[in-house]
Amino acid sequence: MRIAIVGAGIVGAATAYELAGDGHEVVVLERHASAAEQASFANPGLLAPALLIPWAAPGTGGPVLRQFTGRQGTLRLTRGAGLHSLAWLWRWARAAGQPQCAGRLLALAHLGRYSLGRTREVAGALQADIETSRGMLVLLRSSGDLELVQAALAALREAGAGVHQVDADTARLIEPGLATDVPLAGALHAVDGEAGNCRVFAQQLRQAAQERGARFVFNARIQALSTTPTGVVLAGESTVRPADAVVLCAGEASAGLLRPLGARLPMQAVHGYSISAPVREDTHAPQGAVIDPLHRIVITRQGQRVRVSGGAELGHAAGVHHAPTLRTLYLALSGWFPGGVLTSSPQVQVWRGARPTLADGAPVIGAGPVPGVWVNAGHGASGWAQACGSARALADLIGGRSPALDLQPFSLARF
Ligand SMILES: Cc1cc2nc3c(=O)[nH]c(=O)nc-3n(C[C@H](O)[C@H](O)[C@H](O)COP(=O)(O)OP(=O)(O)OC[C@H]3O[C@@H](n4cnc5c(N)ncnc54)[C@H](O)[C@@H]3O)c2cc1C
Repeated sequence: MRIAIVGAGIVGAATAYELAGDGHEVVVLERHASAAEQASFANPGLLAPALLIPWAAPGTGGPVLRQFTGRQGTLRLTRGAGLHSLAWLWRWARAAGQPQCAGRLLALAHLGRYSLGRTREVAGALQADIETSRGMLVLLRSSGDLELVQAALAALREAGAGVHQVDADTARLIEPGLATDVPLAGALHAVDGEAGNCRVFAQQLRQAAQERGARFVFNARIQALSTTPTGVVLAGESTVRPADAVVLCAGEASAGLLRPLGARLPMQAVHGYSISAPVREDTHAPQGAVIDPLHRIVITRQGQRVRVSGGAELGHAAGVHHAPTLRTLYLALSGWFPGGVLTSSPQVQVWRGARPTLADGAPVIGAGPVPGVWVNAGHGASGWAQACGSARALADLIGGRSPALDLQPFSLARF
């Protein structure tokens, strides 16, 4: 089949790799000048367990409205956050209390595990160096913090992930750089936890997809999807570029492209930040990944750098970075790993990106609203962790095979 993929983020690149490997004639159309320029650019790269990533899904991380207030508040409305954002937030909060919440978390836990396996297979096949670090700790300042991750933990355990509770001394043996003066009641240790560089992998996937025959066209903005004939219309062109199938991997822009076809995706760009800084002293720096669930912060090791990430903003991307959120991230770094990271280095990189998030926290992977259009989008806070599995499963579906994963919970029809 001739397949046009819209978007060359991590999801589009992984989808191109799988579809080209299945023998399809693939063209990827991307509005930026290279792959992974948007949400996939500088996320902290946590791969597993994906369900513990802050903002992974409703029902994880504690009550959402509490995020607005107090010293631990990390959620804020920025300029342009209108009724749409508030309605989305209301749906997110409501989804946490729905009876189907536990089932959804379980489906996401299965997707995460399936995707981790596929990521490892592909990375192995490509001999990709993606600055992988192993092991992950969720730091619990008090026993009350366990509440914040309880629902995610139950789903992960049911899906077979190995996450164990350890005491503070064991946590400090696993991460010797952890501060000794910060209260620590214990931690959750995911032996199978993993982080890696999402952008680097997206670029390697792009190259591997090209070697499999896929074509990437950059600086090409899709203005509309076409159904008769199936294809895409590029900005500045008046005729349809035809294809047998179109796969929409446009991240936060996916909802806008689907709307004229009659589908209304409750999509919200949940913006957050990351700060990347060089390691100052290896023994004081994180060796793997850690999560501070109270402040919804992720810290990961990426080669000779450390990346800290957090914050959640609803609304348009503001031009100016939110200084208090960045201060919280710097404090988390120096508080948890004193002396480990060079935060005053000129190499420090600050990034603001969007989590393309659907109101129930799960992506859409499957058939679109009209024949010939497929969707792989809305992976929210765990798009890197879910990309390779989503891509493989969708490629199977398009190829008429049964995916190894039940895709029912990720169908467009649920909205
Ligand atoms: C602060 C933060 C922390 C995060 N932490 C993690 C984490 O630890 N682990 C994890 O797994 N995930 C994490 N994420 C989420 C992850 O970054 C995203 O889910 C993922 O990158 C989404 O990938 P994507 O390919 O769907 O979207 P994108 O990377 O945004 O790609 C979509 C592409 O489509 C292109 N596009 C859009 N519209 C058009 C058009 N009309 N024409 C042509 N091209 C178009 C865009 O230019 C873009 O390149 C985090 C995100 C943020 C912001």
